[in-house]
Amino acid sequence: MRIELRVCQHCLEGDHGADEQKTNLLQDMVACAEVIKEHKEAIDLDAVHIRRVRDDEPGKPEALPVVAATIQNDQVVLNDTQLVAEGQDGNMLLYANPDDILTVLAGNVDEISKAVHEDVTVDLSEIGAKIVSQAGLGAKVNKDD
Ligand SMILES: [Zn+2]
Repeated sequence: MRIELRVCQHCLEGDHGADEQKTNLLQDMVACAEVIKEHKEAIDLDAVHIRRVRDDEPGKPEALPVVAATIQNDQVVLNDTQLVAEGQDGNMLLYANPDDILTVLAGNVDEISKAVHEDVTVDLSEIGAKIVSQAGLGAKVNKDD
């Protein structure tokens, strides 16, 4: 099984006119994905790709060829934030909602923390921690909770 997180590099860095909440959420997603990548064997993942797309390059995925799009003002606009997970059966699950993306990633971090014998945590932003706790996965994402 493989997963690929795609985020906008500019929004991640806080330019692009993104609000602070979006930037914080993207940073939370990338932080979770990096932990998952580091410990991918613990939850039987073959590969974890973190793709940061820039304005000056096509929004092409790195490994999993699925791109979410929406229609805005009669034009097709590619989503700049998405998570694709390839299942054992070959189905591709596409998450385009930022709350869902973070919830799925935090759930994986939680699984890893149960599988390895070390403390695996991600310091989420306030908004990120709130989203994950509301999802009720019982994800252990913040030691202070
Ligand atoms: Zn952006």
